[in-house]
Amino acid sequence: MSMVVMKFGGTSVEDPAAIGRTAAIVAGRVALGKTPVVVVSAMAKVTDQLLRAGAAAALGDRTGALAISSRLRARHRDTACALVKNPADIADLLNFIDLKFDSLDEVLRGLAAILELTPRISDLIVSYGERVSSRIVAAAFRELSIAAAHVDAREIIITDSQFQKAIPLDALIEKRAAEKLRPLTNQGKVPVMGGFIGSNEAGITTTLGRGGSDFTGALIGGALPAEAIEIWTDVDGIMTTDPRICPDALRVKVISFEEAAELAYFGAKVLHPATILPAVKKNIPVLVLNSRNASNEGTRIISLAPHCKSPFKSIAVKKKLSIIDVVASRMLMTHGYLSEVFAIFDKFQCPVDMVSTSEVSISLTVDSNDKLPAIAAELGKLADVKYEGKKALICMVGEDIRGQNGMAAQVFNAIRHINVRMISQGASEINMSFMIEEDDAEEAVRALHAAFFQHPDPAIFDVGARKKLVDS
Ligand code: ASP
Ligand code: MG
Repeated sequence: MSMVVMKFGGTSVEDPAAIGRTAAIVAGRVALGKTPVVVVSAMAKVTDQLLRAGAAAALGDRTGALAISSRLRARHRDTACALVKNPADIADLLNFIDLKFDSLDEVLRGLAAILELTPRISDLIVSYGERVSSRIVAAAFRELSIAAAHVDAREIIITDSQFQKAIPLDALIEKRAAEKLRPLTNQGKVPVMGGFIGSNEAGITTTLGRGGSDFTGALIGGALPAEAIEIWTDVDGIMTTDPRICPDALRVKVISFEEAAELAYFGAKVLHPATILPAVKKNIPVLVLNSRNASNEGTRIISLAPHCKSPFKSIAVKKKLSIIDVVASRMLMTHGYLSEVFAIFDKFQCPVDMVSTSEVSISLTVDSNDKLPAIAAELGKLADVKYEGKKALICMVGEDIRGQNGMAAQVFNAIRHINVRMISQGASEINMSFMIEEDDAEEAVRALHAAFFQHPDPAIFDVGARKKLVDS
């Protein structure tokens, strides 16, 4: 049986039309003889709205919180009615939706009385998004003759008790998937479950962190195991760079896990790097596909990328960064000095992106944030400190960049007209990054894209799309 996990994001289930497209895509896989297991997000924006309802209730705004919930109830009911026509099925579905929103309202009322929003209650509140969306999608699939069976994700995704960022317990998930999903697929059913949510061993609802539905997809894919994990979203896949900056950006047809993770970390919004780890561990390919353009073959993410004639696969940009220069008043490399510096960032829970050191100074980059003045004041006790915002990080990713002679020279020659502040080619063999002024970012990306994607390797990049662009 060729199992495939199909994960659909919020925009792929945002309204009846999107759910209809999603159903057609799943039906297409069934027609090809595949056995899908479907994972869905909450409908677009619902998680944010649930969080807003929780925040309002916790401030004592009972009316405001209940108003958000009531709008969400109406949106889910309307979507259900547009999709499900069978009288018994729609009655059953509306009853389910009402029961869930009744209990959500009860939680919000309680919260407005006790005025304390704990991470545990927050997870309970947001869980309604995926619990309701998955039930609607399952019913819509059945209406369209897909033998769907709704499964409560919390019975399968077992996690520890770190609410809002729970760690999955792989062995238990594998066991539950075998017990609860396998029997369904063996009967020819298509399990449909929510992403993002889980429960601890005591059955208390947890979540895997924002954007966690991809993670659920990879966890289920790893647990079954599936032959592939499909992440259905609203872009054609991973691109050679942001097409808003370079209209001639190309789709990357195939990329390694490691390269995709580097890109995700440096701001390419397609996938969260940790999400694909369960797939990497079991060597299961992950496909990024577009539910609005389903015939496009997307990007295939695999363990070992095939050889590519072009040195780079993609250029990512991360903006809104600051550089902090710490100039030591005593010898930098004195024992314990760096740990004192990092302890300050730790105290303010401020992650550091890039570090470079010299004998007397350290430069660090962080996301621009309002804690910087306080961090600088503390660092000022150890050293002279300067910080400057409006910086951008350009990150160029490609297999074995270091193995190729003269690559750095080619990169910096392409952007010789731009002032480069900080360079790092340290930790990873496959990433070359540097810091420039934010105002120069787009020009730098265009110059680099023109230099390195002039003659793209057709085995790796979708050059057909560029031809069409030129011809039209
Ligand atoms: N609905 C959740 C969120 O918006 C999880 C997801 O969509 O991946 O963060
Ligand atoms: Mg997402």
